[in-house]
Amino acid sequence: MKKIAVLTSGGDAPGMNAAVRAVVRKAIYHNIEVYGVYQGYQGLINDDIHKLELGSVGDTIQRGGTFLYSARCPEFKDKSVRAKGIENLRKRGIEGLVVIGGDGSYRGAQRITEECQDIQTIGIPGTIDNDIKGTDFTIGFDTALNTIIESVDKIRDTASSHARTFIIEVMGRDCGDLALWSGLAVGAESIILPEADYNIQDIAEKIQHGIDRGKKHSIIIVAEGCMSGNQCAEELTKYINVDARVSVLGHIQRGGSPTGVDRVLASRLGGYALELLMNGETAKGVGIKDNHLTATEFDLIFNNDDTNKINKRMLELTKELSI
Ligand code: ADP
Repeated sequence: MKKIAVLTSGGDAPGMNAAVRAVVRKAIYHNIEVYGVYQGYQGLINDDIHKLELGSVGDTIQRGGTFLYSARCPEFKDKSVRAKGIENLRKRGIEGLVVIGGDGSYRGAQRITEECQDIQTIGIPGTIDNDIKGTDFTIGFDTALNTIIESVDKIRDTASSHARTFIIEVMGRDCGDLALWSGLAVGAESIILPEADYNIQDIAEKIQHGIDRGKKHSIIIVAEGCMSGNQCAEELTKYINVDARVSVLGHIQRGGSPTGVDRVLASRLGGYALELLMNGETAKGVGIKDNHLTATEFDLIFNNDDTNKINKRMLELTKELSI
């Protein structure tokens, strides 16, 4: 392996820069030339591909977002469009491509490998949603979790001054991990997430019970993949008369300097992706399971339903702790 390329694609996540840095530095350490593809698959098609040096990734480990930029590029699903991108890699003699993103981005990588046997592809899970199978954690999840915790702690101060119920809508798409983890970490009264049944009447009664025994405020965390914060407030006020305020945290969850956990995870996964390429592996996504680095075939990542189910014991615990 003499030349590789790296790109970031789909939704951005804090820690993507740290992953790019690890790929670039480890490649150069092993005398492999590295190219950065700017703006994800869009840049691959537009030939926005530039050689990266050791200094190109200096001063990036602590930065949120991605200095390679990211983009959604629906045209990449079209084979003839992909052929252009593949040609742009081939003409430079690039034999390996590291794709940092979500499972949509992995699908693009898998297509490249299917259509061009001489280009290996490896995926690195970069998304705050923690919704990629084949890994316990994705890069960006921990930072987003900490952003939510910090925000809810601040909201709690004002909630208690006015004896209010706050409904906080958090991201995660169809995955409830951000809601579950943040709910446990902030001591939320209730957590509503897509993977578990909920009953708004029960939640309303619990809030009322809390008010009756003198609670100053209540926090409900709702995952965006389940319902909106406003919908939740509407439903709740059908059963109880509370001053419920809604806070949609939105894109602040995607930003910020990556936490230590995310920087370390990104560096380990970036280094491992490079190792796999050097070993001739392809069409796999890297991950971490029980603190061990893992590589899972893209096909299994797309088809395995069991690997990333919500942690039922954690969910049960949140109920036990929020009586
Ligand atoms: P994520 O990677 O975060 O899941 P998307 O689902 O938006 O984000 O995918 C990112 C990009 O990956 C898309 O804009 C597109 O360029 C590419 N992509 C997604 N699905 C496919 C597919 N089935 N075939 C080829 N490319 C795809």
